[in-house]
Amino acid sequence: MAKITLDNLAHSYFPNPKSEDDYALKELNHVWNDGEAYALLGSSGCGKSTLLNIISGLLKPSQGRILFNDQDVTNAATAERNIAQVFQFPVVYDTMTVRDNLAFPLRNRGRDERYVAERVQEIARMIGMEAELDRKARGLTADAKQKISLGRGMVRKDVNALLFDEPLTVIDPHMKWELRTQLKSLHHEFGHTMIYVTHDQTEALTFADKVVVMYDGRVVQIGTPQELFETPAHTFVGYFIGSPGMNVIPAMVEGNIATVNGSRVQLGRGYGKLDGKVEIGVRPEFARLSANDGLPVKVRRVEDVGRHKIIRTEFFGTDINIIAGEDATIGPDMNRVVFDPAHVNVYANDWRVEGEAA
Ligand code: ADP
Ligand code: MG
Repeated sequence: MAKITLDNLAHSYFPNPKSEDDYALKELNHVWNDGEAYALLGSSGCGKSTLLNIISGLLKPSQGRILFNDQDVTNAATAERNIAQVFQFPVVYDTMTVRDNLAFPLRNRGRDERYVAERVQEIARMIGMEAELDRKARGLTADAKQKISLGRGMVRKDVNALLFDEPLTVIDPHMKWELRTQLKSLHHEFGHTMIYVTHDQTEALTFADKVVVMYDGRVVQIGTPQELFETPAHTFVGYFIGSPGMNVIPAMVEGNIATVNGSRVQLGRGYGKLDGKVEIGVRPEFARLSANDGLPVKVRRVEDVGRHKIIRTEFFGTDINIIAGEDATIGPDMNRVVFDPAHVNVYANDWRVEGEAA
């Protein structure tokens, strides 16, 4: 297993990139700790596969170095990197049986047949395909083939890292949960360095110790699910994670007071002079309706979503969403919104400003 270091890494698919916009992956420095499970989260096209393929060696970066445990592998072929990678769509040998497909990576590495048989049995149990071991892969459903791909990715214990690129896309919803649980237990058992790419926040937050959020070719935050929730480093993280996402409101900030459309909002921290576009960000969980104080809003709609209510309001053209308890009563005179000052984040040009303890 390995620690993976990305040193000044960047990639453009153009031969002569001219500006930052030409880079699918903008400059990145990051260390993936040995034995940690990471989710790489971001919307389609933000550069997740590009980054993963650079780590596995399928793609050579236009700039920078990749180190496995301090050894430079930037120019090493995929095979030399000793990595297992599972792709979004199945990659299986159709003419081979399920058993031979699963055994392939082990035989390739010259493991003895007794070990191969044992390990294949174990993996078949994990992916729920013990009964199909002697069937040819040809003719199996896409779902079953993808389970074989996953199994092949998990079969070797001696890999440097396991990389998964949206591996559950073609898997049915029930089995998704089951396989994700298996991947997690595999991680607990063997402690592989794992990188799991997904565009699904639930998948990312339930799978990983740390979530790496990408936006437009850039890593915008690396944090625990709690950090992403409480202190989104970029407004994108605020919108993308959470349901509904963080409320973002244009503001002027001075010291520990924000002014939004003439109303004052108390902040939990103090701020110096901020340049550019200034906004405050508050998660719906830290906002509540009030009859007496707070920002004057129009209540548009109340959605009952079972465990809680989502109250949709509008404040001078900006949406402000509130999450309230399922038994909260909403009186006709409750047309103000109050924020918990400790959970109001301040953003300048979309990046969170740390501020100072008040
Ligand atoms: P993701 O996996 O997050 O959906 P990708 O890494 O596949 O994103 O793509 C990032 C960007 O690079 C996208 O704008 C995509 O169109 C572009 N891109 C991906 N692969 C290639 C390629 N082989 N040639 C040119 N552009 C590419
Ligand atoms: Mg992709």
